Amino acid sequence: MRSEDHIRLGESHSAHNYHPLPVVIRSAEGAWVVDVEGRRYLDCLAGYSSLNFGHGNPVVLAAAREQLDRLTLTSRAFFHDRFAGFVTGLAELCGKDMVLPMNTGAEAVETAIKVARKWGYEVKGVAPDQANIVVMEDNFHGRTTTIVGFSTDPDARGGFGPFAPGFRIVKYGSAEAVREAIDENTVAVLLEPIQGEAGVLVPPDGYLAAVREICDEANVLFVADEIQSGLGRTGETFACDHEGVVPDLYVLGKALGGGVVPVSAVVGNEDVLGVIRPGQHGSTFGGNPLACAVGDAVVGLLRTGEYQARARDLGAFLHERLANLGPGVAAVRGRGLWAGVDIDPSLGTGREISEALMRRGVLAKDTHGSTIRLAPPLVVSRDELAWAADQLSAVLREARA
Ligand SMILES: *Cc1c(COP(=O)(O)O)cnc(C)c1O
Repeated sequence: MRSEDHIRLGESHSAHNYHPLPVVIRSAEGAWVVDVEGRRYLDCLAGYSSLNFGHGNPVVLAAAREQLDRLTLTSRAFFHDRFAGFVTGLAELCGKDMVLPMNTGAEAVETAIKVARKWGYEVKGVAPDQANIVVMEDNFHGRTTTIVGFSTDPDARGGFGPFAPGFRIVKYGSAEAVREAIDENTVAVLLEPIQGEAGVLVPPDGYLAAVREICDEANVLFVADEIQSGLGRTGETFACDHEGVVPDLYVLGKALGGGVVPVSAVVGNEDVLGVIRPGQHGSTFGGNPLACAVGDAVVGLLRTGEYQARARDLGAFLHERLANLGPGVAAVRGRGLWAGVDIDPSLGTGREISEALMRRGVLAKDTHGSTIRLAPPLVVSRDELAWAADQLSAVLREARA
């Protein structure tokens, strides 16, 4: 079938919860994808950072293939021979004791919320059902009813209430706002160390360290949603590393699945994660053999530091290029191989700019009106990045004309 037919049939037989760019991808390798007509595109979205290690990463694929032929699913009713290696490796990468494996990011966030509340009641001594969690304006933590209940995005929450109580929303980037929102019933502060969906918003220097200190003083858990910011994207293993901050709970997903299967996890120490006992939380697929084999391969890739270094060096190069795009760019934010580029709205919507980039062979996605998000796989080359920046430059030049 041709692209048009795939798009027409797909659109008429699926719920319209997405508005995809009109490209039908058939295959991919590294940082490149190929559509059904054979056109090549540089993938500058990387599955919202799920493909940090590239499409078809040979190490990840070899682990998945070997596992597919041997054992794919047991449920957690039994042990399997890929479980111990994955959880010990991931715990070590995080400098923590324990891992609670789930599948999607939203499930890992839900898990962290449950763990924080239970810790609040059993360890901190909060009165029953009184726990609150401080969260941020413009957050993105997933799509479950509890999570969208504390979103400030009208599209994400509108029409989906009633919502779960127990969340306090404060301004992102203000440690003072966090301090003021905390009371004796606060069990956690949940935040993204860089807000991805909000437009790659990097908080002011010192913010994460200040929140860490406030949490320590108030006996409140610092929960870092590193689902998009973590696992090499920003030039460190975790975005929290840039401020030398260690959260009480890491929430991981996206790239943990190596671009092959959904793998998520909450990682923390025994004094926190240990509050969950048999029967109190779980997932049929969480920690399955295929997920563990893939996750273990991903942990192995991160252990060398090679991908973090690539994100650091190539990210510096990309940001230098983006800083010199000239008129039409209102602002560029980001860290490592991750950028939010605010386009002057008079040149067109983010959607129109993304479509023009697509016609020039670059796949990127707009977020929040006029922001283009760039997050290519960390296997991208310097020349490819330069070429992508040139395409963006050309699109802006054409839009100005
Ligand atoms: C993508 C994302 C999630 C949700 O992950 P899903 O796998 O889509 O449920 C949560 N938090 C952040 C920061 C994300 O980027």
